[in-house]
Amino acid sequence: MAQQLVRLLGVDDFRSELSRKLDLLERQIDSELQKTAEIERCNNDLERFRESVNKRERLEHVCESICPGTVRKLTPRRDVPTYPKYTLSQETIEALKTPTFDVWQWAPNEMLSCIEFMFHDLGLVQEFNINAITLKRWLLCVQENYRDVPFHNFRHCFSVTQMMHGMVHLCNLKAKLSMTEVVILITSAICHDLDHPGYNNTYQINAHTEMAVRYDNVSPLENHHCAVTFQILADPDFNIFSNIRPELFMQIQEGITELILATDMARHEEIMSAFTCCVDKFDYENIEHLRLLKQVLIKCCDISNEVRPTDVSEPWVDCLLQEYFMQSDREKFEGLPVMSFMDRDVVTKPNVQIGFLQMVLIPMFEAVAKLFPELGEVMVQRLREARARYENLLQPEEIDEERSF
Ligand code: 5GP
Ligand code: MN
Repeated sequence: MAQQLVRLLGVDDFRSELSRKLDLLERQIDSELQKTAEIERCNNDLERFRESVNKRERLEHVCESICPGTVRKLTPRRDVPTYPKYTLSQETIEALKTPTFDVWQWAPNEMLSCIEFMFHDLGLVQEFNINAITLKRWLLCVQENYRDVPFHNFRHCFSVTQMMHGMVHLCNLKAKLSMTEVVILITSAICHDLDHPGYNNTYQINAHTEMAVRYDNVSPLENHHCAVTFQILADPDFNIFSNIRPELFMQIQEGITELILATDMARHEEIMSAFTCCVDKFDYENIEHLRLLKQVLIKCCDISNEVRPTDVSEPWVDCLLQEYFMQSDREKFEGLPVMSFMDRDVVTKPNVQIGFLQMVLIPMFEAVAKLFPELGEVMVQRLREARARYENLLQPEEIDEERSF
C-alpha cells in the first residue's frame, strides 16, 4: 500500500531529481570555492610581485646613485631560484679540485651548481649558517651582474673560483687558515670582477669615465667591483651572511675588499715584493703575512689560465685579445692613447703570452711554490711548458724582437 502510494506520488522520481539538483549545486559551490581560492592566490601573487617590483626599483635607485648607468644590470630575483639542481658526478666533484678541470664544458646553470657545491663542500654553509635558498639567489644575482663581454664575464668568475677551490684543496688551506679566511678567499674570487665593462682602468682614467672620476683614478674598476659586491649583499634577499654576528660580517667585508682591490695589476710589484720578503719566514700567526698570502692567492687564481691544459687555456687568450682589441679600437676612434700590447696591429698570441708568462706568471707562482711546494709540478711546471709552447709558435721576425726585448 505504502509502495503504491510512493509510486503514485512519484516520490522516487522526485528523490532522484532532488539528489541530481543537490549534486549540481554542490559542484557549483565547489567550483565557486575553487575560483575564490584561485582569486585569492592571484591576489597574493600580485601583492608579492608588486612588493618585488618596489624593492627592485629601490635597489636600482641605490645602484644608480652609486654608479649612474653602469649598474644597470643589478636585477635581483625575488622568486625562489629555479635553476635545476644538478647532481654532480663523483668524477666532476674530484675534477673540481684540480687545475685540469675544463671550465668550458658547463652551461651557465651548471656553473652555478658547481659554485653552490663548493660552498657546501668547503663547509662554509654550515660554518656561517648560510640559508641554502639565499645562497642560490645570491649566486643568480652575482651571475646576472657579470656582463656579456669577451673575457671578464661569468665564465671568468667561474674559472677563478674553481682555481681557488683547487688551491684550497691542493695546498690543504683548511688546515692552515681559519674558515673566515677560506670564505673570504672564495667569496672574493666569485665577486672580484662584478659588472666589469670590458674596458680596463687605463681606458677608464684616460676617458675620464664616471667610474674613474668617482674613485679619483685609484683602481676604479676594482673599487666598483667591491661596491657592487656589497650592494648585492646589502639586500636581505641576497645576504648569505645574514646569520652571523655584525663584527664577523665587518671582518669578512674588510677581507673581501682587500682581496678584490689586490687584483689591480697596477699593484702587482708592490704586492709581490712584500710577499717575497715574508715568504721565507712565513708565519701563519702574523696577520700581515696572512693578508699578503690571501692577496697573492687571489692574484694567482685571477690570472691562472696558462696553468690549465692547452685546450682550456688557449680560448682564454682569444677572449682576452678580443677584449683588448675592442678597447684599442675604441681608443683609436676616440683619440685616446693606445697601449701596444692591446693593439691589433702589434700584438700576437705568442708574444703577448711569452711576456706575461716570463715577467708575471712564472715569478709569482714560483714565489707561492716556496710556501706550497706541491704547486711546483701542477702549476709552475705547466707554466714553463706553456712558455716553451708559445716560443715554438713565434714567427722568425718575432724571435728577433723577443731577443732585442
Ligand atoms: P683581471 O682582474 O682583469 O681579470 O686580471 C688582471 C689582468 O691580467 C687582465 O685584465 C689582463 O690584462 C691580465 N691577464 C690575465 N690573464 C692573462 C693572460 O693569460 N695573458 C695576458 N697577456 N694577460 C693576462
Ligand atoms: Mn679577473
